[in-house]
Amino acid sequence: MSNEMKALAKTAPAPGLDMIRAPVPEIGPDDVLIRVKKTGICGTDIHIWDWDDWAARTVPVPLITGHEFAGEIVELGKNVDDLHLGQRVSGEGHLIGKHSRQSRSGRFHLDPETRGIGVNEQGAFAEYLRLPAFNAIPLPDAIDDEIGAILDPLGNAVHTALSFDLVGEDVLITGAGPIGIMAAAVAQHVGARHVVITDVNPDRLALAEQVTDVVPVNVAEEDLREVMAGLKMKEGFDVGLEMSGNQRALDQMVEAMVMGGRIALLGIPPGKSPVDWSRIVFKAITLKGVYGREIFETWYKMIAMLEDGLDIRRVITHRMHVDDFRRGFETMKSGKSGKIVLDWE
Ligand code: NAD
Ligand code: ZN
Repeated sequence: MSNEMKALAKTAPAPGLDMIRAPVPEIGPDDVLIRVKKTGICGTDIHIWDWDDWAARTVPVPLITGHEFAGEIVELGKNVDDLHLGQRVSGEGHLIGKHSRQSRSGRFHLDPETRGIGVNEQGAFAEYLRLPAFNAIPLPDAIDDEIGAILDPLGNAVHTALSFDLVGEDVLITGAGPIGIMAAAVAQHVGARHVVITDVNPDRLALAEQVTDVVPVNVAEEDLREVMAGLKMKEGFDVGLEMSGNQRALDQMVEAMVMGGRIALLGIPPGKSPVDWSRIVFKAITLKGVYGREIFETWYKMIAMLEDGLDIRRVITHRMHVDDFRRGFETMKSGKSGKIVLDWE
């Protein structure tokens, strides 16, 4: 193995990413070294590419970006005895601290000291990735590398969708991005009754229909109330999954909920946005913010569902070699894609 590798990095505080040569990371006693095979492009990577205010505040330069990956273990730290060389893995990209009350109580996903690979720490858009063995997730044969590379966003979808009991419930998802679409597939898989997904982008709604059995609604053209009437829904949605970060989508969701409805919020609004709190109070709505994945409960549930037939493969609309990364990022920004998977082999 050469001691240099290819990596996609932010090299200056400005838009874009560059393919660089970087040293292969050295691992510590509790780490593994992973040879990366496939990576997914995430909306977060687009923020980093664009170098928006959030990225400029958050991301150190230089930094290897990327956090959605699958690969194979090629080196084990000396304390690692529960993984083996050649093992196929994905991994949790949130590196947690061990000091906070939440972490010490086993609620790892709520640790305020969490640092993200590809955001705060060296990332996965590279031929090799160092990861704490604790964060590595072995992949069963039923999950190939390209699905392994999108378990991070699928995990966001699963975490959000499983926030509330969905069995027999009518579910509204606002935002048919890759995560909203995967959440629709999860809601169907676990036994929701009607799953309705909204967007203003017809390409995204068409993709949603290809991935799963869902009722697509283009809210720029259609009236959600009429769609609900057509489904013979009388009182509103039982559960809402907000996956757009859009103010109008949230307002529309609150209006369309049943009394006592439950809403899980994953979408990140661009800044402060006004909320009609009295509507939420008088409708007795429960709101839950969702961050990342539950470590590691979401991973167990997600892998079990995939092994049991949850099929989200069609959300991957583009596959390309990493040398074509510019085309990948452009395609992602066009809004005319689902997940884009880059091949590092
Ligand atoms: P995405 O940007 O690809 O999808 C958002 C979709 O919302 C787009 O298709 C857009 O057209 C649609 N939209 C815009 N206005 C709308 C409206 N009025 N009604 C309905 N839909 C509308 O994002 P994604 O990658 O699928 O992620 C979904 C959201 O989750 C994003 O806001 C992302 O930032 C956020 N996110 C949060 C976490 C977390 O830990 N909380 C993790 C990952 C992603
Ligand atoms: Zn991601």
